[in-house]
Amino acid sequence: MIQKHCSFCNAPETAENKLLAGNNVYICKNCVVSAYKIMFGDEALAKKTENKDELMQEVEKLMTPKELDKFLGEYIIGQEKARKLLSVAVYNHYKRIFKANTIEDDDTEIAKSNVLLIGPTGSGKTLMAQTIARVLNLPIAITDATSLTEAGYVGEDVENILTKLLQAADGDVERAQKGIVFIDEIDKVARMSENRSITRDVSGEGVQQALLKIIEGADVNIPPKGGRKHPNQEFATINTNNILFICGGAFDGLNEILKRKQGENVLGFGHEKKTKDEQEPTYDMVEPDDLVHYGLIPELIGRLPVIASLQEISEDDMVRILTEPKNSLIKQYKKLFAIDNVELNFEEEALRAIAKKSIERKTGARGLRAILEENMIDIMYELPEYSGYEVIVTKDVIENGEAPIYMKKSVDKTA
Ligand code: ADP
Repeated sequence: MIQKHCSFCNAPETAENKLLAGNNVYICKNCVVSAYKIMFGDEALAKKTENKDELMQEVEKLMTPKELDKFLGEYIIGQEKARKLLSVAVYNHYKRIFKANTIEDDDTEIAKSNVLLIGPTGSGKTLMAQTIARVLNLPIAITDATSLTEAGYVGEDVENILTKLLQAADGDVERAQKGIVFIDEIDKVARMSENRSITRDVSGEGVQQALLKIIEGADVNIPPKGGRKHPNQEFATINTNNILFICGGAFDGLNEILKRKQGENVLGFGHEKKTKDEQEPTYDMVEPDDLVHYGLIPELIGRLPVIASLQEISEDDMVRILTEPKNSLIKQYKKLFAIDNVELNFEEEALRAIAKKSIERKTGARGLRAILEENMIDIMYELPEYSGYEVIVTKDVIENGEAPIYMKKSVDKTA
């Protein structure tokens, strides 16, 4: 990993002196404190520095939805609607934590804006949650609902998510309590409904109930080092009121529920409406009721008030994902090659061929890495022998396993 440095004092990032990322710049905790001192004086600082992390949080929370969206856009291709919804939800969430008591009014309590991301596998749900956590410098725990069980069954207790979060926060309970939990495959713990059969040996509803307890906000005792609870163990207590929960799922089959609902509406409205066939439902239309039909319990849906849908990644977007985001796969490979003084280039047709293969695998953009890796392994095996060359990956490399084009560069940079 590349060591990041503060753009102001050049200090490297450490556990004690964390960096806050801006647009291509970083600022360390010490510089934030100095800046605060210059702006507001020593006395204000004395109050604030009782807890420097609180100060960092205050600075971080000032990121507006537009800034958050812009940051997401550097890593996530497409998915504009979902990015916007998530940016607003995250902004509201941290405003609720840090600013709600700055307004003197009645006792209006702002509800939490936990998020449900609906979209096919490999469309960027996890990446979005991770990117938000990174820009806000918050701990994040990522888990898969299918691995969770109610306490007492074989599998991972739901509460272990909080242990993971505490570990991501380096054991700092305060930080963990403001972190993010991402629960993927929430659709796989839907209870059986009339028309879908899910085979699970443990009731999905039990897991939903257990999740509900944590998501709605509670003090939860967890073993800080993980594993099963046992009576002689020390516990940490985590209050989940301010943890942002983001759930994700593909919800295969939800389309059928939407179509049926649409059909009913069409019949109800009579002739002037379009016929069923003319309107393909999209996941943008999902309402809480549809999710109840799908098999999520209403109480849980009630706790996930922001529903955002992500689209399947198109071939064009696959190509963009390969090349455009910060740290894109192609940029990473180019760098690996450059270290050996080899210039790596891909023909547009080669990128398209990778995109097509990934679509065939039906794992969204997740397939891209494996496909690239499979194709690059032979080239990388010989890489050190090609110092001073340009390597061009053609469509035939990807489609037929042929060798790439090697061209000696006229000016050898090592010379
Ligand atoms: P999901 O959680 O929706 O199943 P992920 O977010 O885990 O999918 O995506 C898997 C990988 O695919 C990511 O790590 C990223 O490299 C790539 N990816 C998926 N969607 C996008 C996107 N919209 N933009 C950029 N990269 C993406």
